[in-house]
Amino acid sequence: MLNREIPLCPAARCEPGADLLGVVQPSGRIAFLPAGVRVDEEFSQLALLSAPSSNVRFRYSSPCAESACLHWQGQHCAALDEVRAHLAPFAETAAPSCAIRPQCRWHQQAGDAACAVCPLVITDLMAVEEEMADHAVGPADRPISPAAAMPPPAG
Ligand code: SF4
Repeated sequence: MLNREIPLCPAARCEPGADLLGVVQPSGRIAFLPAGVRVDEEFSQLALLSAPSSNVRFRYSSPCAESACLHWQGQHCAALDEVRAHLAPFAETAAPSCAIRPQCRWHQQAGDAACAVCPLVITDLMAVEEEMADHAVGPADRPISPAAAMPPPAG
């Protein structure tokens, strides 16, 4: 059982106990899901075997690991700083409906400015790049958010 008092990371790894936060659409934008879609052992195992990486096709949330995560700096999540820097030109004006907002680490850090770029984040850029190379996808066909993708957080 997860401790729901801890702020939630909105770009977590796929692992048992995490929640499925959203699904990456063909446009590269996230379609957020209602709360309560939990990753179980079976889903996690299937996701591990899937290609491309499940972190390219889905977004997950789980309790923020804070100092145990390589993105944690001082008292904040530096991954959000990176995401905002890369995606500022694409920031959206309306915050999406999102099930974890009251507990979201990124929203606690930057408010609606985080939500303006969050739907454009794909957690695992490396797998995206590999898939594009395999299928010889041109730059014009790339998802909107490759610059925002980041290495998976520790956890
Ligand atoms: S940054 Fe905003 S949209 Fe993204 S997970 Fe957090 S609350 Fe939801």
